[in-house]
Amino acid sequence: MSKKPIPVTQPFMPPLEEFLPYLSRIWDSKWLTNAGEFHEELEHRLARHLGVEHLSLFTNGTIALIVALQALRITGEVITTPYSFVATAHSLLWNNIRPVFADIEADTFNLDPERIESAITGQTTAIMPVHCYGIPCDVERIQNVADRYGLRVIYDAAHAFGVDYKGRSLLAHGDLSVLSFHATKVFNTFEGGAIIAPDAKTKKRIDHLKNFGFVDEVTVAAAGINGKMNEIQSAFGLLQLDHIDRLIGLRGDIDARYREQLALVRGVTPYEPRPDATRNHAYFPVLVEDAYPLGRDGLYDRFREHGILARRYFYPLISQFPMYRGLPSAQRDNLPVASRLADQVLCLPIFPDLPLAEVDRIADIIRAP
Ligand SMILES: *Cc1c(COP(=O)(O)O)cnc(C)c1O
Repeated sequence: MSKKPIPVTQPFMPPLEEFLPYLSRIWDSKWLTNAGEFHEELEHRLARHLGVEHLSLFTNGTIALIVALQALRITGEVITTPYSFVATAHSLLWNNIRPVFADIEADTFNLDPERIESAITGQTTAIMPVHCYGIPCDVERIQNVADRYGLRVIYDAAHAFGVDYKGRSLLAHGDLSVLSFHATKVFNTFEGGAIIAPDAKTKKRIDHLKNFGFVDEVTVAAAGINGKMNEIQSAFGLLQLDHIDRLIGLRGDIDARYREQLALVRGVTPYEPRPDATRNHAYFPVLVEDAYPLGRDGLYDRFREHGILARRYFYPLISQFPMYRGLPSAQRDNLPVASRLADQVLCLPIFPDLPLAEVDRIADIIRAP
């Protein structure tokens, strides 16, 4: 019984021999960061792969979120979701912006446009929704609210790598979209991220901000930060990109197997994908409902006894953490749907190297805990 535990996710590591030529090139050139050859190539190839025009690489997704808010000079209050990774709201606090939490829709796990609208005040300047689990937000209705009230929309698209919605990139919606390439994400560069901008001028401003505000050798246009992606990260990204379609295919096989295996299990319900969007299978959330005797935390504990490290993404809600819980919008009665889902959700292991036999074993445990 001393089997290695199964994590909820695990990065795909390409064969080491494939990475060595990149390393040797970096060693020869001695160009390690600051818009090097691999950085430039990755920006171009990723933009093409994702079907967007203007993309700026970052050293991680959180710095990219912080810079996205700066690039659009967002201040005051921003309406966001409590049902996300904590970095979403932290990026607001780092900009001295007050987060205002609004509730989510039960079927998409994403901000409810009606709840956004009722949270708007005179201080509101922007909306920061998350395409949770890579499921698209209701981008049309969110844009409609934003247009009517003159608000900006910055999508935290950390889960939405490569997702197309109604035939075009989901990342083309809103004023900016921010990706994360952290080791736990579908596409990774160890640590990394990117901002998708709508035009060359905005990308330029973002590129200045990620390099201390430098415009040229002697001109500093803004109090920028250091958010640059280095050449090793960029090279790893180029190599991942060669494998990404196959890797997402393998994730899709696991997703299909879980659905097949769990179809008849009472009280454990896999998330419902949107028919109008492609999927990257970044996560496999299920809702553990009252009909399941063990309850969510009971199943979570039972999994751990079997060495299966399923995760309760997203529990606790961001609004429960000490720096947020005093806000009026953080109270549970303002967030009934998010609160319920946080108590029911469990993300099952999904990653390209996970054998289907392990998926079957996980399903067996669910059926006979
Ligand atoms: C991973 C993640 C981030 C943070 O990205 P990093 O690259 O780890 O800084 C932000 N938001 C969401 C929703 C995430 O899942």
